[in-house]
Amino acid sequence: MGYALRSAQRGGAEGGVPIGAALVIGGEVVATGNNRRVQDGSVIRHAEMDCLENAGRLDASDYRRAALYTSLAPCRMCTGALLLYGIPEVVIGENDHFTENEDLMVAQGVNVTVLNDERCWELMERFVRANAELWSEDIGGRPGGQMAKVRGPRPDGRWAGQR
Ligand SMILES: [Zn+2]
Repeated sequence: MGYALRSAQRGGAEGGVPIGAALVIGGEVVATGNNRRVQDGSVIRHAEMDCLENAGRLDASDYRRAALYTSLAPCRMCTGALLLYGIPEVVIGENDHFTENEDLMVAQGVNVTVLNDERCWELMERFVRANAELWSEDIGGRPGGQMAKVRGPRPDGRWAGQR
């Protein structure tokens, strides 16, 4: 998560949306990425997408033993990408500022862990408070801010899964 967090911080320092991701295969970080909406004017380079793109073309077998670390819970676009490539493990820094697809990933057999990492949370909290409009743009026009949580991870950090 340190790699994902540092990517998030770097993106934030560039004036961007401070979300970062890292792709780990066989215990090795093969790529990192950060949200590039502001820096590149990109509507698809969320942190997870940027990370997958930076990793380049991998064998299907590599994705199937990969873990994607992301500082904030993934949106539906990024969830779609990681389901497409069959990434079996997703580790989330926090899901207080965005939560939507954890159940979907679990239902598709992905092992989802939410760390409730305070460093990730504080980075997003500062950003969301100062950039509500930009944040709303990044999540498809939803209101920015902390999302009301109707369910959460179990005390061991594993996502509760099915309702
Ligand atoms: Zn996304």
